[in-house]
Amino acid sequence: MLGDDSAEQLRAEHEALIQFLYLAPVGLVQASLDGEIAMINPISAQLLMPLSPDGCLTNLFAALEGVAPDLRLQCAQYPRAQGMVFEGLHIHLRAGEHRERAPQILSLTLLKLDEARIMAVIQDVTAEVRRERQLRQSDAWLNAILTRISDYALVSIDRLGRIVDWNDSIARVTGFGEHVIGSPYSVFYPPGAMTPEHLLDRLREADRNGWSLDEGLRLRADASQFWASALIAPLPDREAFGLDDPQAPAYALILRDISDKRAASEKRRQAAFCDHLTGLANRRAFFEAAELELDRAAHTPRPLALVLFDADMFKNVNDRYGHPAGDRVLVDLADALRDSFRIVDTVARLGGEEFAVLLPSTGEEEALAGAERLRALVATRLVASDAGEIAYTVSAGVAVLAPSAEGERDADRGIDDLIKRADQALYLAKGRGRNCVASWSSGLSDNEDIPKRSRNAG
Ligand code: GH3
Ligand code: MG
Ligand code: MG
Repeated sequence: MLGDDSAEQLRAEHEALIQFLYLAPVGLVQASLDGEIAMINPISAQLLMPLSPDGCLTNLFAALEGVAPDLRLQCAQYPRAQGMVFEGLHIHLRAGEHRERAPQILSLTLLKLDEARIMAVIQDVTAEVRRERQLRQSDAWLNAILTRISDYALVSIDRLGRIVDWNDSIARVTGFGEHVIGSPYSVFYPPGAMTPEHLLDRLREADRNGWSLDEGLRLRADASQFWASALIAPLPDREAFGLDDPQAPAYALILRDISDKRAASEKRRQAAFCDHLTGLANRRAFFEAAELELDRAAHTPRPLALVLFDADMFKNVNDRYGHPAGDRVLVDLADALRDSFRIVDTVARLGGEEFAVLLPSTGEEEALAGAERLRALVATRLVASDAGEIAYTVSAGVAVLAPSAEGERDADRGIDDLIKRADQALYLAKGRGRNCVASWSSGLSDNEDIPKRSRNAG
């Protein structure tokens, strides 16, 4: 035990340190373990105020619930008396009024100071993230480079992504025989993992950047799957084959089995891009996927659909069965969502009991059907709890950015507009009695002020 004097001195030193920290050019918030704010410096107040649903900052977790719903849980589950609960969690906010501004990204580090207090360190990292995103490619490059020579398949493909010839390396890595000649290279992808547009996107990205690289599950001829990196590069001498011949080899596809590297890179990916409670994509992953899909659609017009799902009367579920049971319902909903959509669709948890599914190359009718399928499926599910089985329902709002007749896309709209429209549709569904799906229509003006739902602050 420390003597009274040295305990007092320690406390004084700690206070001095805290005072000093409050002058630092980062946001700092000190709070109790359940988020009640004790001290907050001006930078934090400036960064957090726009997020707070009711405009007053009293609880850190409540302020961030709409954009980082699993903080409370992560903090509660942190096993040690003190230490770093997490470091540099990225929180994506909406771009707000000015569409030209990129969505703002905050970085949040959470420290447990002792059994009663936590400290949050908050920074605006919007500019850094852009740079970092480019650097992340290097992770995939490393995996691609540090692989044994015998592990790769070298495939030539033509301008439309069809396999031009066959060699032993294809058989070795994938088990496919000569009959793959003429098939699109998506034969190496599991069902639902690639759309025809994505197939061409990768070729165009290779044209623009000199290469296109991705990592993920790939398919062998016997339907088994393996973790692979796939590099597509334009053939240096492709002009020699004649630009007019659509069947001439135009790109090399290098497919490497990197199953042994998967564990490490998957762990890194999950820490940064997955929601803690449900394992779905988090906001960061969602906004990155949305940016990529919008960019692709700007190059080659195609529809892009967004479905927002919101659990109905979820407050009642929590009130009646308790918050932990509510969490289990959210996990059940996440499982239903994951099972109901394709691999190319980004299924994300955007906030508390709100989920989003981004569907590339999908029009309104298809998106509505998908949303309705999920709604109906959920209505049949029961989640076990101590107080009996829990039935629950969801409502959904659908919005689509469609390329117009001239091939121009829907007036250059961004993800913010798409979310806003889907949100308005969701509001309609709630108004129609919940447990239903509504679609945005031009009858709902973009500027119309439907009472703001409390989520998606920022
Ligand atoms: P509505 O049908 O209009 O959507 O009603 P609602 O009660 O679902 O909507 P409201 O937005 O008023 O309440 C959302 C509730 O969801 C309140 C909040 O406590 C709960 N919630 C948010 N995040 C979590 C979470 O991570 N776990 C649990 N168990 N509940 C959560
Ligand atoms: Mg809600
Ligand atoms: Mg709700």
